[in-house]
Amino acid sequence: MNFTDLTIKSASELIAKKEVSAKELAEMSLERIKEVDDKVHAFLYVAEKEAMEQADEVDRMIIADNENFALTGIPYSVKDCILVKGMKATAASKILENYVAPYDATVIEKLKKVSPVMMGKTNLDEFAMGASTLYSAYGPTKNPYDLSRVPGGSSGGSAASVASGEVIFSIGSDTFGSIRQPASFCGVVGMKPTYGRVSRFGLIAMCSSMDQIGVFTRTVEDAALALQMIVGQDVKDSTSLPKLVPDYSAALSEDLKGMKIGIPKEFFVEGIDPEVRAIVENAIKQVEALGAEVSEVSLPNVPYSVPAYYIIAPVEISANLSRYDGIRYGLSVPGKTLEEVYYNSRSQGLGAEVKRRIMIGTYASSAGYYDAYYKKAKQIESLVQQDFKSAFDKFDLLLTPVSPKPAFKIDEKKDPVSMYLEDVFTGPINLAGVPAMSVPGGLTKSGLPVGVQLIANHFAEEKLFQAGHALEKSLNLKLKPNL
Ligand code: GLN
Repeated sequence: MNFTDLTIKSASELIAKKEVSAKELAEMSLERIKEVDDKVHAFLYVAEKEAMEQADEVDRMIIADNENFALTGIPYSVKDCILVKGMKATAASKILENYVAPYDATVIEKLKKVSPVMMGKTNLDEFAMGASTLYSAYGPTKNPYDLSRVPGGSSGGSAASVASGEVIFSIGSDTFGSIRQPASFCGVVGMKPTYGRVSRFGLIAMCSSMDQIGVFTRTVEDAALALQMIVGQDVKDSTSLPKLVPDYSAALSEDLKGMKIGIPKEFFVEGIDPEVRAIVENAIKQVEALGAEVSEVSLPNVPYSVPAYYIIAPVEISANLSRYDGIRYGLSVPGKTLEEVYYNSRSQGLGAEVKRRIMIGTYASSAGYYDAYYKKAKQIESLVQQDFKSAFDKFDLLLTPVSPKPAFKIDEKKDPVSMYLEDVFTGPINLAGVPAMSVPGGLTKSGLPVGVQLIANHFAEEKLFQAGHALEKSLNLKLKPNL
């Protein structure tokens, strides 16, 4: 058995047949982390001791109760902006360098009920603001397929930890692309559920009107198994909704007969890399061959999504991050007055991109400017939502690229706007609040993974699993980095 080839499905079958124990899986995961994480730097914290203790307990439980769920004993990682009780949660910021989570996020609480084994906390752009993991205060994560390139972001550590075979799945967050773009860059499956499908209680807030938790896995089948365990309404998050949760695994099929798939023309504009375009066009051919009815659709307001988001998000960020004041949480730098404590703590504790957003957000929401910026941006958001609504009156799914280009070089992007443009194809989905998934579509000639994005209507995640699984099977890629 090769640990780096295991999926949730295959590892869980081995556990059920008693061919491997949770302890052995955790040991294999740790060994792999020791072997490659110096190079990849997916982890901010490796929970070696906790994982071994937990794995022992899981093995005892399996023997005692004969209880074995799909995720039981499976090694996984968690993005460091999600709280795990008793463990540090830095959100890759200096201001939370010594912050220890006093409680579990709801997703972690839910996972603990089925006992996967938590191997550690993964790297991200500071407070999940970014698209490269370069904005982590603790050094960048590298792309496992090419160490001179970024893994994407902000959940770059989560994507890289699954791609490099350190863990079998990971939990991340996606506000404007942060699960799907790194999944695409790292050749893994990345699933962002509907806004309201998964509780964000215990997720360090960035842009609350769009933040959503989701999963990274090696296969679509695994994404169905992992997502199943974290969904559902939660009284601790008033935006989570009491919608019936279908059996996602039952939706997996290899046939797309009668499914209507729209190809939004605004996602195939000039500037998209020819290899990315070819990989996505190949995916379109595949879904057609599987029986889907494919036709073009227009989402005319989608091109305004990035400018709208970079007003809405900073406004919410400036409010959400006001809690890091040097008094209540984290780093506190002394000063002669209270104001100086605020000033010193925030100056030293926060990185440049975070400060930029706080300033833009404060400006855009201040009296006299609110109507011109924030209100306009929210109007654009409504128009984008309308576009998706009309598209889903006609289509079951939309299919697009995830990102205009494959993973970029670590020192390639010099200005914030070129980083913001990374979100051009993923972000509109968050404005609409609908679910989407990145499925590996192929490799470029130089060996970089490229994902294909599938988008469904609100709470229609099962259609993503259906089409994603069928596409994955027909492409039959066996992606694996050379590490
Ligand atoms: N790239 C986007 C940003 O910088 C999205 C981040 C995210 O989804 N967390 O805000």
